[in-house]
Amino acid sequence: MPAIAEQEWLKGFLDFFFPPLCLGCGTFYEGEDSICETCFQKIEEFAHPFCLNCDSIVPSHSQCPICLKDSALLYVFADYRPPLKEIIINFKFRGITSPARTFARLISEKFEKQLAGLNAQAIAPIPLHAARKNHRGYNQAELLARDLASVTNLQLADNILYRYKRSRPQSRLELKKRQANVAGVFTAVKCENDIKRVLLVDDVVTTGATVLEAKKCLEKNGYTVVGIMAIAHGH
Ligand SMILES: [Zn+2]
Ligand SMILES: [Zn+2]
Repeated sequence: MPAIAEQEWLKGFLDFFFPPLCLGCGTFYEGEDSICETCFQKIEEFAHPFCLNCDSIVPSHSQCPICLKDSALLYVFADYRPPLKEIIINFKFRGITSPARTFARLISEKFEKQLAGLNAQAIAPIPLHAARKNHRGYNQAELLARDLASVTNLQLADNILYRYKRSRPQSRLELKKRQANVAGVFTAVKCENDIKRVLLVDDVVTTGATVLEAKKCLEKNGYTVVGIMAIAHGH
């Protein structure tokens, strides 16, 4: 049997038992990103970055007009609600890793100009605790960071920040307790001169407690965190 016919037969077989479904709404969909047109249109994109300290929108300047130089900007693709929420749940908990590639492309296109201005040298993912990563089999933030590094031609720094203390999942805690829950959970390798300016990456940022704690830890160890990048921002 020629190879092409064999491949088509195999595809037909797989489609019958595992039909390709949209990650947002679960309907049959065969497109490359596994997100149907209707779901893509429903995703509420943000036009501007946010300030992580005060959650204001930062229209055109590189710093928050309220917090000024202390601001840490969050470059995030869209609002954390369905269907994007469902897509991220698939990405995070159900072993479906294609959103890493899709959103790395979309985020880097969206913030192309800002990214150039940040002068980042490397992209660092928010780490999972080793036990949690082993249980899940992967860290979704790391997959996203790897694809972002590849589309932006920046170095992947997945060995500078570690989570050595386990914390409870942030999503189950009320706002005030989130900060205390992540205090001191990270540790970083001291900065060597080749990687200093780092862009932090996570899949979802809600209050920002986790990414701000990671930023603090990196900065204590000699890095400069030039910004935070994520797929979704929840409120
Ligand atoms: Zn859909
Ligand atoms: Zn601010």
